[in-house]
Amino acid sequence: MPADPRAGERSAMVDTQIAARGVRNPRVLEAMRKVPRHLFITAEYQGAAYRDSPLPIGQGQTISQPFIVGLMTELLEISPGDRVLEIGTGSGYQAAILAVLGADVITVERIPEVARMAEENLEKAGISHVRVVVGDGTEGYPPGAPYQAILVTAATPRVPGPLISQMAEGGRLVAPVGARDIQELIRLEKRGEDITSTSFGGVVFVPLLGHYGWEV
Ligand code: SAH
Repeated sequence: MPADPRAGERSAMVDTQIAARGVRNPRVLEAMRKVPRHLFITAEYQGAAYRDSPLPIGQGQTISQPFIVGLMTELLEISPGDRVLEIGTGSGYQAAILAVLGADVITVERIPEVARMAEENLEKAGISHVRVVVGDGTEGYPPGAPYQAILVTAATPRVPGPLISQMAEGGRLVAPVGARDIQELIRLEKRGEDITSTSFGGVVFVPLLGHYGWEV
């Protein structure tokens, strides 16, 4: 592989934005050092690819801030071979991180043009084990269920019921839940009939539009 001219910026991003703010899992930090984030960013924002912020990716959508990707990934506790469902493919960057951790990823995106862009980005970055599906992710994706981990990367008024049904025993689900303009990052864990919920503070995501999300 040719030397990556942006590896230094990426390493600094991991040290100062992610590890310094408390993401500890060494496998998550390593995955974020590895995946070339700039390949998931449009030409217009190349200079800002490793900046501490979300960025526009077209169609009114955004790629999440690097720290938020690190935090959500850590909360999912991915083991190699886990079946993982992501709702809101966007650029494909979050899906790439999950795949580098050894997960088998299905990611659902409602905007076909965005899904296509994500597929191109994933191919450029040489990422396999990610399947991009176009559809309403608030319904989940029953053919791949149950999932050890489910990640919602768009803001939802409540966790969509179908996603809870598609969690495996011992499974984790992470989602930004709340109002349209600000949400709380929550993590659910399924143990038998019990679902425990823990909150991880305020976040801002673009809305999840669909049957069990916000009205389209
Ligand atoms: N995870 C992405 C960022 C997601 S931005 C990344 O790594 O870049 C949120 C995405 O969710 C947008 O692309 C938006 O189109 C998509 N989205 C919104 N509602 C959706 C729904 N019901 N099903 C699937 N995708 C949805």
